[in-house]
Amino acid sequence: MTSTRSDLRVAVIGSGPAGFYAADALLKSESPTVEVDLLDRLPTPWGLVRLGVAPDHENIKAVSRAFEKTAARPGFRFFGNVEVGSTVSHAELAALYDAVVYTVGAQTDRRLNIPGEDLPGSWPATAFVAWYNGHPDFQGLGFDLNTERVVVVGNGNVAIDCARMLALTAGELASTDTVDDAAEAIVRSPVEEILMLGRRGPVQAAFTPPELKELGELAGAEPVVDPADLVLDPASEAELEADRERARRNVDLLHEYAAREPEGKPRRIVLRFLVSPMAILGEERVEGVEIVHNELVEEDGRIVARPTGELETIPCGLVLRSVGYRGVPIDGVPFDERSGTIPNDRGRVEGAERTYAAGWIKRGPSGVIGTNKKDAAETVELLLEDARAGRLAAPGRDGDLAELLAEKRAHAVEYEGWQAIDMAEKAAGEPLGRPRVKLTSWEKLLHAGSKITR
Ligand SMILES: Cc1cc2nc3c(=O)[nH]c(=O)nc-3n(C[C@H](O)[C@H](O)[C@H](O)COP(=O)(O)OP(=O)(O)OC[C@H]3O[C@@H](n4cnc5c(N)ncnc54)[C@H](O)[C@@H]3O)c2cc1C
Repeated sequence: MTSTRSDLRVAVIGSGPAGFYAADALLKSESPTVEVDLLDRLPTPWGLVRLGVAPDHENIKAVSRAFEKTAARPGFRFFGNVEVGSTVSHAELAALYDAVVYTVGAQTDRRLNIPGEDLPGSWPATAFVAWYNGHPDFQGLGFDLNTERVVVVGNGNVAIDCARMLALTAGELASTDTVDDAAEAIVRSPVEEILMLGRRGPVQAAFTPPELKELGELAGAEPVVDPADLVLDPASEAELEADRERARRNVDLLHEYAAREPEGKPRRIVLRFLVSPMAILGEERVEGVEIVHNELVEEDGRIVARPTGELETIPCGLVLRSVGYRGVPIDGVPFDERSGTIPNDRGRVEGAERTYAAGWIKRGPSGVIGTNKKDAAETVELLLEDARAGRLAAPGRDGDLAELLAEKRAHAVEYEGWQAIDMAEKAAGEPLGRPRVKLTSWEKLLHAGSKITR
């Protein structure tokens, strides 16, 4: 398909939920009609649905079936293994397409900016998650789980995912697509305690009740909460009163955990609140974390944590820092360093014509998969409005991406290539009762993905 019979040709960059929801909304448009090329730097689509969502949440990963329907729509093409900023530039895309929509997510982690953060054994949660999920850039990292205590810094759902994954038994891992190295390391680890540190109190915790509830339902681990941590200050009491279903249900669950008798399971997930790491300690590698106790104070109508000066040292051999994700700039595309996003007005990129954004790179790393649907719909609506108003009059629209890639001798994995990868992975998983066994190296992915190309 090199010539187009549609009114518009749009490139969507990043094939996670925001990319697929944007593509779907564009392909459904009848006036103007739209063709979509969806590009991803990886040979595989689905973004964090494949490489972020925890392997024991197979039902959530099943959202990819909706994306498969989008991929089957006429006018859709996938170009995996094509990175914007290196394989092709924004300027090249701007010449080929009427509009470019960035849905590149938040590809890196926020830092704590404390001493010792880069000691061996201190990892961003991004790396740990990408490792157990089989991201080809994060294999062979040598995660050493040979420790009795792991500290997870953060109080969101990603922190809970990390804590839970570390606590799964061989039986619980057996039916998942966790990569073998990670599953073996988790099962063999002598870890007894996984300690989650929350900067603020239980009312302000960002995790959601279903995820917190799962910590109480594990085969080989039990949640531990100190009742003293659940004594609320007046500001938190008021916040809870005004709640917000989430905080109320979280606090009820935490009370239930605090009241539980120890069951003697081999691993404990300890949830602590009102503590922040001040330093990661160790000579050659992580040996502990120094934390400070906090109190809550109101500042500009928000409840924030203020250090009290009371310090404590916690010995541990591994630290996972889960304090948020951040976008990465792309050459030629505006970027706001402060927020780590592409500056935009409801999805129209500020300072770049015919350029749009959706998903985490538009609004920052928050919300569930479904949040990106509404978000992408808003962006697409504005894009179509601009098209109808004649604001997308492209200077170029010259040639086709497939030709450009051929000129550059760049090897794209097209949708059929991904289907070949998918089939190979599922076939390897089937006899083991697993959804798939992931291909985890670039070489294997590109080999499997190149079996069928146009
Ligand atoms: C660890 C973790 C667990 C989560 N679990 C859940 C859950 O259980 N349930 C839930 O509802 N939500 C969950 N979420 C949230 C959900 O994953 C996000 O809301 C969603 O993935 C964001 O979509 P996105 O399309 O903006 O970004 P992403 O999913 O990150 O997709 C971005 C895509 O862009 C590609 N890309 C990046 N840069 C370039 C480039 N320069 N050129 C080409 N391609 C590029 C990437 O390879 C990627 O495929 C989780 C998030 C994380 C981090």
